[in-house]
Amino acid sequence: MQNELSGSAARLVAVSKYHPADAINEAYVSGQRIFGESHVQELCAKYSALPTDIEWHFIGHLQTNKVKYIAPFISLIHSVDSLKLLKEIDKQAAKTSRTIDCLLQIHIAAEETKFGFTPTEVMQMLDEGQWRELQHTRIVGLMCMATNTDDSSQIQREFHTVHLLFETLKQKYFDNNAQFCELSMGMSDDYHIALNEGSTLVRIGSRIFGERNYDNHC
Ligand SMILES: *Cc1c(COP(=O)(O)O)cnc(C)c1O
Repeated sequence: MQNELSGSAARLVAVSKYHPADAINEAYVSGQRIFGESHVQELCAKYSALPTDIEWHFIGHLQTNKVKYIAPFISLIHSVDSLKLLKEIDKQAAKTSRTIDCLLQIHIAAEETKFGFTPTEVMQMLDEGQWRELQHTRIVGLMCMATNTDDSSQIQREFHTVHLLFETLKQKYFDNNAQFCELSMGMSDDYHIALNEGSTLVRIGSRIFGERNYDNHC
């Protein structure tokens, strides 16, 4: 997997949700350091059990009342989908004297079930400006999930749309700042399309760890 990414600027987030600590350790021993999880309880259990130089990313829907459990150690939260959540992350980060990097999740897929801001909503939120007052969070880019479809041209269009949105927001709200630099796009089945559309973080689970065993969830 790492080989397929060589030559591209993208980094690999190994999505280890539902896989046991042993499987993570095996990837760790072979050099992988960034792991993605989508359930707070499961992440906290793994964080305690595994090496401290792992960079943990949170990629799932995050409830505000659970932010406090991951704030002391999380490296990047990919899935910020409301100003309310961003404010709570900021508050909990302040309590542990940290600054937490966050991505704004963009709802681009045709499915109703995927979380995130629509392009219009994210512009409204950024226009309104409250986020600028937050001292303990940094918005460093965007994340999205494409529609779950075999139509690769649709997936390509969605990633392209988010890439253009990323460029627009970078200009308009972040003064072209180098800090706003991450585009988290692409999973096992569509990461090759995402890489062509400028992804800097691909989130790969099953292609690394195999099928998820949902009984492992703790
Ligand atoms: C589970 C998950 C992934 C990984 O999916 P695979 O198809 O197994 O690569 C990536 N991103 C998010 C947000 C996920 O929840």
